[in-house]
Amino acid sequence: MHLNIGGMTSFTTIDFPGHLAAVVFLQGCAWRCAYCQNPHLLAVDEASDDWEMLRRFLEKRRGLLDGVVFSGGEPLLQSGLSEAIAAVKDMGFKVALHTAGGNPQRLSRCLPLLDWVGLDVKTTFTNYADLTGIEGSGKKVRESLKLLLESGIDYEVRTTVDPNFFAGNTLLELAKILAAVGVKNYALQQCRAVEDYDFDGTPFVLDGIFINTINAMFPKFTLRTS
Ligand code: SF4
Repeated sequence: MHLNIGGMTSFTTIDFPGHLAAVVFLQGCAWRCAYCQNPHLLAVDEASDDWEMLRRFLEKRRGLLDGVVFSGGEPLLQSGLSEAIAAVKDMGFKVALHTAGGNPQRLSRCLPLLDWVGLDVKTTFTNYADLTGIEGSGKKVRESLKLLLESGIDYEVRTTVDPNFFAGNTLLELAKILAAVGVKNYALQQCRAVEDYDFDGTPFVLDGIFINTINAMFPKFTLRTS
């Protein structure tokens, strides 16, 4: 199978809840979020094929790790992903996916194989193109969210709060939309400044009352400020 890997973390306790896992960062993303933390992963080196390297790495980690996270970039862009997930499961690991949800068709093929999904919902679905630069991206994420919620697979929906982008009540409106469609586990995470992109001196837009309001909408809510 063909897999383009841009980097790996060999051990994490925070990216796949309840599991000691390795994170595999796959190359490629069609979107261009201003705050992207992994711009080096956006392009794909089609000439490389890294599955065999990953397989050998995991062979040595049997008994030491219990999970593998496919992250990115956008892992669902890779046509070999579902085959890779199946092969990793056959090796005895549980598998998680971190995705921005831009390819619902491929997500639907992967969902039956997955043990956990972290789905980024970046903003209200109608505002997506302003953030990703891609028309129609919000519609695809809405489809992916629906598929995920219907699958019954354990998940977290999360939003990275870019204070340059979230104006007024956009974040509250997003939280209401997510609660209304049945999201039970929601996280807000502080956006970190990246090279060539900063926050006009505004460290974070969220205040306590605002957070309490959103917290009350979800059975499980997490705030990540660092
Ligand atoms: S979807 Fe993720 S990987 Fe792609 S540009 Fe946005 S932040 Fe970066």
